[in-house]
Amino acid sequence: MSAVETIHVDGVWQTAISGAQREVLDPADATTLAVVAEGGADDTDAAVAAARRAFDSGPWRQTTVAERAALLRRVADLLQRDREEIGLIESHDTGKTLEEGRIDVDDVTNAFRYFADLVINEGGGRVVDAGSPDVHSIVVHEPVGVCALITPWNYPLLQASWKVAPAIAAGNTFVIKPSEVTPLTTVHLIKLLVEAGLPAGVANLVTGAGDPVGARLAEHPDVDLVSFTGGLASGTKVAQAAAPGVKKVALELGGKNPNVVFADSCATEDGFDTAVDQALNAAFIHSGQVCSAGARLIIEESVRDRFVAELARRAEKIKLGRGTEEGVECGPLVSAQQLAKTEAYVASALVEGAQLRSGGSRPAPSAVRPATGYFYSPTVLDNCHRKMKVVREETFGPILTVETFLTEDEALELANDTEYGLAGAVWSADTARARRFAGQMRHGTVWINDFHPYLPQAEWGGFGKSGVGRELGPAGLAEYRESKHVYENLRPAPVRWFAG
Ligand code: NAD
Repeated sequence: MSAVETIHVDGVWQTAISGAQREVLDPADATTLAVVAEGGADDTDAAVAAARRAFDSGPWRQTTVAERAALLRRVADLLQRDREEIGLIESHDTGKTLEEGRIDVDDVTNAFRYFADLVINEGGGRVVDAGSPDVHSIVVHEPVGVCALITPWNYPLLQASWKVAPAIAAGNTFVIKPSEVTPLTTVHLIKLLVEAGLPAGVANLVTGAGDPVGARLAEHPDVDLVSFTGGLASGTKVAQAAAPGVKKVALELGGKNPNVVFADSCATEDGFDTAVDQALNAAFIHSGQVCSAGARLIIEESVRDRFVAELARRAEKIKLGRGTEEGVECGPLVSAQQLAKTEAYVASALVEGAQLRSGGSRPAPSAVRPATGYFYSPTVLDNCHRKMKVVREETFGPILTVETFLTEDEALELANDTEYGLAGAVWSADTARARRFAGQMRHGTVWINDFHPYLPQAEWGGFGKSGVGRELGPAGLAEYRESKHVYENLRPAPVRWFAG
C-alpha cells in the first residue's frame, strides 16, 4: 500500500479513480503530515457495491455471533498492540496531546470488547408468549445491511469505533467516510480489521470530502442505514438526502452544554478546588473541540466573583503547545478555519457586552508552539447572557461563557435553554437537590459532581437537535439491527373467516 492508497474497496487498497489527492496538515505547525486519496462519487459507488455484494452473497452472512465477537476481541488486542503508534498519529492529525491520543485508543479498545461481550451474553432471540401452546413465537435480530458511517474530526478513531464495532457485532457490512481533516487513524483501523480477519468487502473506506463522498453515501439507494456524527448543518443535509430512500438514520450532532455550579459545592476549600478544576477540564480539554464540552458555566451569584477569578487565573496557566511535547496540556485548534471561527465568536461576544477575563487572543509563539500553528488561548468570558450568539451557538473552540443565577428554578431554566441537549452537569453538596436538578435536565448525559466521563455500556446521544438515536450501550447495538418476529403455528388449521 502506498501512502496515497487510502481508499479500501473489496479488500484492495487503492488511489482515487480520478487520481485526486489531498494534503492532511499537522495543526501544530501547518506542515503536511500525509497525502491521502481524495475520493469522489465514483469511488463511493464502488465501495457501496462491494459492501452490498459482501452483505448479499459473501461468507460474512454465515458468520456466527461467536465468530464476530472473537474478531472484535482480536481488533481490541491489535489496537493495544499499536497503542503508541495510533496515539501518536491521532495527536499529530488532530492536535490533541499524545496522552489524550493514548486514552482514545484505550477507550476504543473497551468499546470493541464491550460489543463483543454484549452480543455473546444476550443469547439468541426473545421468546414471546403467544398465549397458546400451539404457537412458538420468537423475536430475532438481524443486521440492517449496508451501513454508511460518516465521522467528524475531533475524535476520529473514537467516533469511527463507536460505529464500526456495533456494525460488525450485528453482522452488517459498511462504508466509512472519516473527516477529510483527520482521516489517518481510520485508515489504520481498517488495516487492523483486515489483519484481524474481516472478509473482503465487509469494511470499505473512502477518504474524501463531505460533498461528494458523504452526500453520495447518504442518498445512495443501496445503503440501508446512515450513521452520522458531526455538526447540525451537515446532519440536517444527511437526513434530507436519506429521506427519499427511507433509510434508517442515526445522528450524533452538536451540543451547547451547561455546567451548573451551586454555591454549596464550593463551601469547602476542597469542594471549591474540585469544581474550578473540573470547570476548566469541561471547557478546555482538546481546546474545547468536544461535542460535550462544558462551554456554558452557569454559576450561583454568591460565588461567582471568587470562582471566575480563580478560573481565569488557572486558564491563563494552561500550557499550550504541540501535543507531542512533554508538559503540554492542550494542543492547537484543528484548522485555520476553526481558529478563524473562534476569533469571530470572541469578537462578537465582546461587541455584545461580554467581559474578557482570560485569553481572547492567539498566544505568543514559543519553543513548543510554532508561529504557524493554530493556537488560541483558553478564553473566559464573564457577564454573558442567554441571548448572546456565543452562548447560543456551539463554538467548538476554547471559549467558556459565564452566566449567573439566584434560584434553582432560574438555574434550571438556563441549563435547558438550548436547542441542543447533548450533555450537562450539576455541582451541589446537597444530594437531594443535585438529583432533583439532574432529573429535570433535558440532556442525553447528565453528570452530578463530575464532567465528561462516559461508559461504553451506557447510551450516548442527545435530546433536541443534538441528534437522533444513541451510540454505545444496548441501544447503540440496536441501531444496527432489524427486529424480526417469527410466529410459528405448530398446529395449522383453517381459520374459516371466509365461508366459501
Ligand atoms: P461536520 O458536520 O463538518 O463534518 C462531519 C462529517 O460529515 C465529515 O466527515 C464531513 O466530511 C461530512 N460531511 C460534511 N458535509 C456533508 C454532507 N453534505 N453529507 C454527508 N456528509 C457530510 O462536523 P465536524 O466539523 O467534522 O465535527 C464537529 C461537529 O461534530 C460538532 O458539531 C460536534 O459537536 C459534532 N460531534 C458530535 C458528537 C456526538 O457524539 N454527538 C461527537 C463528536 C463531534
